[in-house]
Amino acid sequence: MKILVPVKRVVDYNVKVRVKADGTGVDIGNVKMSMNPFDEIAVEEAVRLKEKGVATEVIAVSCGVAACQETLRTAMAIGADRGILVETDVELQPLAVAKLLKALVDKEQPGLIILGKQAIDDDANQTGQMLAALADLPQATFASKVEVAGDRVEVTREVDGGLETLSLSTPAVVTTDLRLNEPRYVTLPNIMKAKKKPLDTIKPADLGVDVAPRVKTLKVAEPAGRKAGIKVADVAALVDKLKNEAKVI
Ligand code: AMP
Repeated sequence: MKILVPVKRVVDYNVKVRVKADGTGVDIGNVKMSMNPFDEIAVEEAVRLKEKGVATEVIAVSCGVAACQETLRTAMAIGADRGILVETDVELQPLAVAKLLKALVDKEQPGLIILGKQAIDDDANQTGQMLAALADLPQATFASKVEVAGDRVEVTREVDGGLETLSLSTPAVVTTDLRLNEPRYVTLPNIMKAKKKPLDTIKPADLGVDVAPRVKTLKVAEPAGRKAGIKVADVAALVDKLKNEAKVI
């Protein structure tokens, strides 16, 4: 079974992003970029399935600017066998990515597609679901455990108040939650090995997909700043303020 793992290049989770002065988006000039954390979990899961002998090949795919090659090399350093870059300078929205992935699913015929549950830059949480709809495949989102048995995959999901286990026929779409696994550290020898792994670059037009944005961002604004707090002298003063100023007791 082949596993396809879409990996997105996003602003590193440690970076405090700044909104551009004109409110059109966030400033990503000179900012550290990394693989979306949920996608690292997806690559790790796919590689573990390969190590268990369940998967035969792990293919990482990234859609975006030429620099997404670095993200693909990271995926290959974790253990993906090859990479596909769908290169474009157009700002890609989830529907466009889902259409590109659908075209790649048709081409590569993977048994599983493991995506992150959401990208930490747009927080959309849409691509996996849209891909499942476009490709007419069963889906299990927010996976905290994935087990492949024969031509089915069992996925445990964290839901309100407990765990839900689904059994899907493959091919299927799975999206990862934080507790699925802890991705391994990439070692220097594996980074060196990854440089020699195959990486194909194609364009959206090669897949016959129109990636023009369909949704327009009207405005991006910083969250409102928090007002400074005060120190109260004693418990009585605190209770008085809670009662008479905040009016919460
Ligand atoms: P989103 O729907 O934008 O929150 O993204 C959910 C998941 O879709 C991500 O965790 C990735 O696995 C995948 N994805 C989104 N955008 C891209 C992209 N440009 N290239 C590759 N994978 C992507």
